[in-house]
Amino acid sequence: MSGLAERHPVAPAFQGRPLPASVKIVEVGPRDGLQNEKETIPTDVKVEFIDRLSAAGLAYIEATSFVSPKWVPQLADGANVMGRIRRRPGVTYSQGPNLGTAAAAAAAAAIEPGSRPSSGFERALQAGVDEVAIFAAASEAFSRKNLNCSIQESLERFVEVADAAKAAGIPVRGYVSCAAGCPYSGRVEPAAAAAVARALWDMGCHEISLGDTIGVATPASVTAMFEAAAKEVPIEHLAAHMHDTYGQALANILAAIQLGVHVVDASVAGLGGCPYAKGASGNVATEDVVYMLSGLGISHGVDAAALADAGEFICAAIGRESQSRVARATRGARQGAAARRLEPEQ
Ligand SMILES: [Zn+2]
Repeated sequence: MSGLAERHPVAPAFQGRPLPASVKIVEVGPRDGLQNEKETIPTDVKVEFIDRLSAAGLAYIEATSFVSPKWVPQLADGANVMGRIRRRPGVTYSQGPNLGTAAAAAAAAAIEPGSRPSSGFERALQAGVDEVAIFAAASEAFSRKNLNCSIQESLERFVEVADAAKAAGIPVRGYVSCAAGCPYSGRVEPAAAAAVARALWDMGCHEISLGDTIGVATPASVTAMFEAAAKEVPIEHLAAHMHDTYGQALANILAAIQLGVHVVDASVAGLGGCPYAKGASGNVATEDVVYMLSGLGISHGVDAAALADAGEFICAAIGRESQSRVARATRGARQGAAARRLEPEQ
């Protein structure tokens, strides 16, 4: 069903530059994608969604997040979700951070009075997550507006979580939000993103995802950002989290993997809009990333047909139109074929 991309595989190189032989896709749909949905999504739907994603071959799924239900009511059933999914061997089910909304960001930093930064971590641990995430912004203005503190202070808040995770033997993933641009202060210098990546690395994060949270980067700024970050953190420990707000996500991912990045974050059906531009696209769609990787001859371990089914399932369940171009194209092609079949024989 994946069309041309799978019919014409090429060697993993592009324009003379080597590409990674394989890419790990981090599926963020169940957390990043669903957390801002207004209507409460039944736990059953979330469980089936996650099970379909793991059945499609995705080996890393951000399943939920443990923040106060007051801030992110959509994720209030995180423990139930974790308890009911069919855990596939070899799949990492993680607790994601809470980028996206100011309230969620504040909750992730646990500025809620009376709570400790590690209380969400403790609940996540009880629920059996395999990995947890922490994050900081690369923009001082974003940090102050959303976390009510400086970048440095936000990093200090996570030391407790990082230490607790280390003591429990749970890997920690770091996120740098607004790594290329900020909704308040505009362009973010590559060195600023690199410095936050370094701080998260020093704190013990095994992987650091550089997020273009508002989707304004182009391949040029993404290249500058990853080149700067790779001076601080080995490139094999960096991940690309690209939003498609300005239609640049796939080009940006290609730029990143040409530099040696081999971990890419994506959300099936492009779930999760952009909280800073109403109606705009947010996360790059997993289906579209898979199509591009297949076309480049890069292995990813995902069954494109099963992934498409997972996307259709969640879109039908929550009443959303898929933001995946691949999903729209293949659905259109199928409908065309069905219509042709209905035409009377001549
Ligand atoms: Zn995202």
